[in-house]
Amino acid sequence: MNITFFNAKPYDHEFFVEINQRYGHQLRFLEVPLNASTALLARGAEGVCVFVNDVVDAEVLHQLATNGVRLVALRCAGFNNVDLKTATELNLPVVRVPAYSPYAVAEHTLALILTLNRKTHRTYNRVREGNFALTGLMGFDLHGRTVGLIGLGAIGLVTARILKGFGCRVLGYDVQFSAAAKELGIEFTDLPSLYAQSDIISLHCPLTPHTYHLINEESIAQMKDGVMLINTSRGALIDGRAVIEGLKCEKIAYLGLDVYEEEGDLFFEDMSGKVIQDDVFMRLLSFNNVLVTGHQAFFTADAMHNIAHITLQNITDFEQGKPLANAVQP
Ligand code: NAD
Repeated sequence: MNITFFNAKPYDHEFFVEINQRYGHQLRFLEVPLNASTALLARGAEGVCVFVNDVVDAEVLHQLATNGVRLVALRCAGFNNVDLKTATELNLPVVRVPAYSPYAVAEHTLALILTLNRKTHRTYNRVREGNFALTGLMGFDLHGRTVGLIGLGAIGLVTARILKGFGCRVLGYDVQFSAAAKELGIEFTDLPSLYAQSDIISLHCPLTPHTYHLINEESIAQMKDGVMLINTSRGALIDGRAVIEGLKCEKIAYLGLDVYEEEGDLFFEDMSGKVIQDDVFMRLLSFNNVLVTGHQAFFTADAMHNIAHITLQNITDFEQGKPLANAVQP
């Protein structure tokens, strides 16, 4: 099939071109993001392949359908950027990669926790300057600490398994019961008890109307003083302004973010020569107990390999009229 990629980076090109040798689709890579002003560029393609911050709203979907596009293939797991109702009305199937490597994201979650705790991001700079003083670098043993996970799907479960290896007590909250979570020894709890008991809280649920700004002034008030908050899921799970207030009054003692509500204007691009206009983001960066990575949790070679394979298989299934195992249901 003839597929136009939006927001394509050199690593997308590298993995998709290599793995496509087994699938034989015609791939065209565009660097521009998909939105209402670029959708026209898909003309001539039967499918588009898009990523987390591409805009796939009603206007874009109408343009795509008018120009002959018959499939939207997400090369990611989350689909909060797609207007599924309109896609269904237009008879445009949307496929995604539901799981490509929960390990990649879970391990990055641990990277954020360990870095914030042991302050290796600060040590790195100090040692390079010849400063070997330990003042300000004290951490705590993870062993015996309580970690609360919100969302016990693929990534939440792998994170729990790793944390169990560290000797942590793991609390979990999910809207669905998970036998696998029970087997792992995760203690199911409601959100107020999770907030009240956890030394570390990590978010692993999707962004939905129910989870939008789940972490807000009210939920932060219920957390332990000195809590560590980690978000590798979706930026809008957190109200950035409320978190800044939590950091200022030291309720939140550590914040690790791989995602940010307004990341679409920033992440995946080199912004080093520009003045960043987002004051909430810049205030977050000013705290030395805040660690931000630019949506890189998924970014391992193993994950990229699986993303390319599963995306291309989704496209082949569609082309051959097979059932779409990874179709996103509205
Ligand atoms: P998953 O679908 O396997 O698990 C999500 C879990 O969240 C499910 O168990 C679901 O029942 C639960 N859930 C849904 N609504 C909830 C709510 N209101 N409260 C609590 N739990 C709720 O998904 P996953 O593969 O574990 O991924 C989790 C999230 O991680 C994705 O939604 C995506 O946004 C994010 N993600 C981020 C990256 C990255 O690079 N940073 C990469 C992949 C996925």
